Amino acid sequence: MITASGKPRQRRASTWQQQLAEAVTRPEQLAEALGLPPERLGASAAAARLFPLRVPRSFLARIRPGDPDDPLLRQILPVTEELTEHPGYGADPVGEHAAVRAPGLLQKYRGRALLITTSTCAVHCRYCFRREFPYTEQIGEGPRWAEALAQIARDASLEEIILSGGDPLSLSNARLASLGRSLAAIPHVRRLRVHTRQPVVLPDRVDEGLLQWLRSASLPIVFVLHINHPREIDEAVAEACAALRATGITLLNQSVLLAGVNDEADVLEELSQRLFRAGVLPYYLHALDPVRGAAHFAVPDERARSIAGVLAARLPGYLVPRLVRETPAAAAKVALSPRL
Ligand SMILES: *Cc1c(COP(=O)(O)O)cnc(C)c1O
Ligand code: SF4
Repeated sequence: MITASGKPRQRRASTWQQQLAEAVTRPEQLAEALGLPPERLGASAAAARLFPLRVPRSFLARIRPGDPDDPLLRQILPVTEELTEHPGYGADPVGEHAAVRAPGLLQKYRGRALLITTSTCAVHCRYCFRREFPYTEQIGEGPRWAEALAQIARDASLEEIILSGGDPLSLSNARLASLGRSLAAIPHVRRLRVHTRQPVVLPDRVDEGLLQWLRSASLPIVFVLHINHPREIDEAVAEACAALRATGITLLNQSVLLAGVNDEADVLEELSQRLFRAGVLPYYLHALDPVRGAAHFAVPDERARSIAGVLAARLPGYLVPRLVRETPAAAAKVALSPRL
């Protein structure tokens, strides 16, 4: 690969599959790699038993060593607060169980349905609303999409299919291409969307095979990335985004508004600026879904609205993400209006 400065980038030491396999999964490993005081990890082993720690080395390298409050670290470090129960916080925070149309196929909104393609992610985000998603119940030990595909084929109102998970880019390029072909063969499916964090946490995932698939796919493809903080976008991520864009796909980003991570207008303004430089437009800024174990990330609505108001006052409209909340029964994500 050629970098922006025109110099060939160093040859990659390992493939993305190796990097996935070598992700850090033990809190002690993390403490050692970052030079963190062990007392910060007191009860995190217990939290990690509920939802395992998982972070690829390439993301780890963007965390500031020795800073227990680093906003990237906070997204992935299991902490004691996760063990406290809070009223209103549960296993199915946005009513997905009621939205199951076929194994692994969820539909809440008109015209688009979401396919759970895999349970695997490169990183485990502590605030993930699918922390307790019953993956095995939905997709078994390995993905079985036949029923979901049959259901999509039967329902002519489904124009857009969203590949989700887990992270769909955990699948091999061959499987993605094959799933893409099956969907493209259904005449009423017009768009394919991919919700993924992998180009961000594991930029080497954007390999030649993936780009080949995107260049040759017959359906228009939209990638919705998931980036919460400007420091997540390093040079390798910017290169991965540029390579994705060069295939002609549309690149958007969704963030979750997280206390202690990005609940400052300055941080989100910088995020929008960096996204734009990387060829990505901000799409949604999600209010936290009330999943068990994540209450310490909550930002009060009033504060969320005033942050959104500051962004709206500072940035062109196309760089302002829409502040929304996912609710169990509404016909769309519900907008929280910015306080101006
Ligand atoms: C968020 C979500 C979508 C996508 O909604 P958009 O507003 O189109 O981005 C689709 N299906 C489900 C179940 C969702 O949760
Ligand atoms: S990458 Fe997405 S699905 Fe995976 S843990 Fe993070 S938020 Fe959840």
